[in-house]
Amino acid sequence: MPVYKAPLRDMQFVLNDLLKVDQHYPTLSDREEVTPDLLDAILNEGAKFAEEVIAPLNQIGDQQGCTWSEDGVTTPDGFKEAYQQYCESGWTSVSARTEFGGQGLPPSVGLLLSDMMGGANWSWSMYPGLSSSAARVLEEYGNEMQQTRYLPKMVDGTWTGTMCLTEPHAGSDVGLSRTKAKDNGDGTYAITGTKIFISSGEHDMAENIIHLVLARTEGAPEGTKGISLFLVPKFIAHEDSSLGDRNGVTCGSIEHKMGIKGSATAVLNFDGATGYMIGEENKGLTYMFVMMNTARMGTAMQGLSLGQLSYQGGLEYARERLQMRSLSGPKNPDGPADPIIVHPDVRRMLLTQKAFTEGSRAFLYWILMVVDKANCGATEVERKEADDLLHLLTPIAKAFVTETGLEVANYGVQIYGGHGFISEWGMEQIVRDLRISTLYEGTTGIQALDLLGRKIMGTGGQALMTLTKIIHKYCESQKDNAAMAEFVEPLAALNKEWGDITMQIGEKAMQNPDEVGAASVDYLMYSGYIALAYMWAQMAELALGGSEGDSFMASKIKTARFYFQRLLPRTESHKLSMLSGADNLMALDVDEFAF
Ligand SMILES: Cc1cc2nc3c(=O)[nH]c(=O)nc-3n(C[C@H](O)[C@H](O)[C@H](O)COP(=O)(O)OP(=O)(O)OC[C@H]3O[C@@H](n4cnc5c(N)ncnc54)[C@H](O)[C@@H]3O)c2cc1C
Repeated sequence: MPVYKAPLRDMQFVLNDLLKVDQHYPTLSDREEVTPDLLDAILNEGAKFAEEVIAPLNQIGDQQGCTWSEDGVTTPDGFKEAYQQYCESGWTSVSARTEFGGQGLPPSVGLLLSDMMGGANWSWSMYPGLSSSAARVLEEYGNEMQQTRYLPKMVDGTWTGTMCLTEPHAGSDVGLSRTKAKDNGDGTYAITGTKIFISSGEHDMAENIIHLVLARTEGAPEGTKGISLFLVPKFIAHEDSSLGDRNGVTCGSIEHKMGIKGSATAVLNFDGATGYMIGEENKGLTYMFVMMNTARMGTAMQGLSLGQLSYQGGLEYARERLQMRSLSGPKNPDGPADPIIVHPDVRRMLLTQKAFTEGSRAFLYWILMVVDKANCGATEVERKEADDLLHLLTPIAKAFVTETGLEVANYGVQIYGGHGFISEWGMEQIVRDLRISTLYEGTTGIQALDLLGRKIMGTGGQALMTLTKIIHKYCESQKDNAAMAEFVEPLAALNKEWGDITMQIGEKAMQNPDEVGAASVDYLMYSGYIALAYMWAQMAELALGGSEGDSFMASKIKTARFYFQRLLPRTESHKLSMLSGADNLMALDVDEFAF
């Protein structure tokens, strides 16, 4: 297993040099201020926890997995103790509001930690990660009883939370869900139905589990318009938050999975369980979107953080493994062969890992700043603008960073040769653990439809213009900088082409709605490549101004060149593919798929 090392140097570069967080944090309102010293301390302590406490449990978690019995689910050795330590150190409460016992720091701080926790041990990190997303929903929409009785114990980690959407017949199409909520007439509801694939749905790490469940009240409209959200605790809490009766929700089984084996994926049976409605009737999906959007950013982080782990393993191996000689003459003449890092093709793989990982870090951390502005911007206008931009960026971040993260993880296996396929090296576990990221929280196909259909076509292209304007402004600011021409010219050209392509698809879609679905995944990937080019151009600019002899900065310029010359041209293939239209996909009759 690669030994996880938190990429602090790169994190600091992105936060301090690129995003200038020292100027960002003081502009936020309604939150505790994040001073540079505080941020440093959080990142350093977080890195220590990730490296020393949970990284050593990563392979154990994969080997042991979770076990189900009638009495509950047992997590792998050490998971529970590590979680207790995490809670005692106050990590669960970092970004929660002070009135509920949180530390009141902006949302970005909690999400930055997830880069390190996820890289160290993704399965473990899902328990606190999902829980803090659930807590956010209650912060925002819970009533007084829910916020006083349930929220503080979720914030301090004593209890964890889940999100319960999926049912056997209702996955991407949540509107098909059938779980029922019968009004008990006393302010509570009886929840009946089965939810599947519920992460952290049952486990032994916390004394209570608070499920946020989508269900339909009697007579509710069909589809997504008739879905409400309910708080359904495993144990019903008394007024003083002490544990009361066991509620009617049980874990029927857990799934046997390809990866993330340390994360319990539960089938939950609700049998007239007591539930409390959150917010207003039939508005459940709107509230759940708060959790889903946070979880989507969390999943994008999975692509980044496990990509980082794979790169670390690949790099270490490529430096040490001796095979064959360099084509341009021996580089290790005293040894029996050269390290494989001298071979161009191994470098192609390593640089692809590095360019996607570091580019994605810059991209995701930039979005975290937008998350902060959307939640705690100083003015209503600022919050609204940030929220609109966030809506556009979320599907790109979720799908692009997980798809490219998977490519990164696959290269990690390839760099190890046959050893990459052998479990003890840990590289195949990264691929297995990461594979889920393009599936849950909305598959890549669903994210792509959301981006092109809802966010772009649905706003008549306005949402895209907000982003292309930002990139255009940046390109204009660099137009007299000759040293930046190699980055800015292709970026400016693609940024313009992006708008043109969008219009072409929009026109075709007016004749045939299938054109949107046919173009969507290529469109999303195309968008992701441009977004990363924008980040790499800015990083190259900073690095060009860096001091000579700084190898970190030198590597940024060279990696930016690699990105622009070898990865960005993939936009051309995505463009040709999406503009080829829907006919080549829809021409076959269903019968003609037969073989
Ligand atoms: C390990 C794990 C953990 C999970 N955790 C949770 C959790 O905590 N809570 C929870 O509620 N759920 C959870 N899920 C469920 C997960 O979110 C769903 O599996 C996912 O949303 C996809 O739904 P589905 O599996 O039913 O696939 P389907 O919706 O049946 O999709 C099958 C395929 O069809 C495609 N497709 C469907 N509709 C369209 C369309 N209109 N256009 C184009 N393509 C389409 C999809 O992209 C996919 O490729 C988890 C799943 C797993 C495996």
